Amino acid sequence: MTNQPEGIATPDRRRVLGALEALHERYRGCNEGRIASYIPELSKADPSCFAIAIVTVAGEVFEVGDRQATFTIQSLSKPFTHALALADRGRGHVMQRVGVEPSGDSFDSIIRLDSTNRPHNPMVNSGAIAVTSMIAGSSPADRFERILGMLGRAMGRRPSIDEAVFQSERATGHRNRAMAYLMLNFGILDRDVEEILDLYFRQCSVLVTAGDMATMAATLANGGVNPRTSERAVETEHIRDVLTVMHTCGMYNYAGEWAYTVGLPAKSGVSGGIIAVVPGQFGICVYSPRVDERGASVRGIKIFEDLSRNCGMHVFETWRQQGQVLNHLDEVRRPAPALPDTTHPQGDATVHKRDNALG
Ligand code: GLN
Repeated sequence: MTNQPEGIATPDRRRVLGALEALHERYRGCNEGRIASYIPELSKADPSCFAIAIVTVAGEVFEVGDRQATFTIQSLSKPFTHALALADRGRGHVMQRVGVEPSGDSFDSIIRLDSTNRPHNPMVNSGAIAVTSMIAGSSPADRFERILGMLGRAMGRRPSIDEAVFQSERATGHRNRAMAYLMLNFGILDRDVEEILDLYFRQCSVLVTAGDMATMAATLANGGVNPRTSERAVETEHIRDVLTVMHTCGMYNYAGEWAYTVGLPAKSGVSGGIIAVVPGQFGICVYSPRVDERGASVRGIKIFEDLSRNCGMHVFETWRQQGQVLNHLDEVRRPAPALPDTTHPQGDATVHKRDNALG
């Protein structure tokens, strides 16, 4: 049973799945990018894993590829923790400590504060660590329980964490540790830094599938209510803030180009997931662990560019589709006009100098 909004035609199941299969087939052979290894445990991921999932606001699920494959949520957790911090502390408190400007910098850029001494936004690591520190709770365990509870409501099941990834990141995440201590110095963090980092590393280690993440993206598309369980995960009043920050900052130093070529609020994570939200319609996740130098899944970016180019999925183009982008999904079968490949810039001007940043 689905709760299809009135006036929107139900997408044809076979056509949508056929279109996703076609995309999967088109990009299966793409082996560009490398598995992130700066968190040692992440390097064990199977590079061939590849899944695409869509969940609509009516609760319909479309999945192709390795639907059982699990991966750690990493930065895909950030919009959700941001929402929880907004609920716990209010917009004013959060904005006083973390801005909403794109940084134009890599996700783990060693703290570069804005003119009012805040991390640029809640999507880069510094801002996300600051936001995680704002989660309310009576103890570290209680705070983590609240994060897990909210992620669980958004995905429709209680998630577990990958203990090995958590330990691996905790043991090696000195760059995040350095940022956190600097933020303590600047008064952005005001509690025990190691405890805050543990919470952040744990939150990044939550295990998900592409279907879980598409459900979570659909929850954002659906005003904060999980469309498969009808349970509220995010307050409606925070959806606008969260989607705006995803739109402008969710893809880090690729955010501007992504907004131009894909045009959806989105989030990437170094384990190879990308989620995007088509507000009022559906959430989508692509999982493929080979990432580019900006830490975003290479196949994922190609798929989103393809979808956006061919199906009117860009937020400034959805008007063309009169209601339901999914009904146009099988237009991806048409050969796509080529765009210049800008995912591999010449030279090293885009990233901070760090040998083997991701690989
Ligand atoms: N846990 C990772 C880190 O903090 C998350 C980064 C990401 O997915 N972009 O480095």
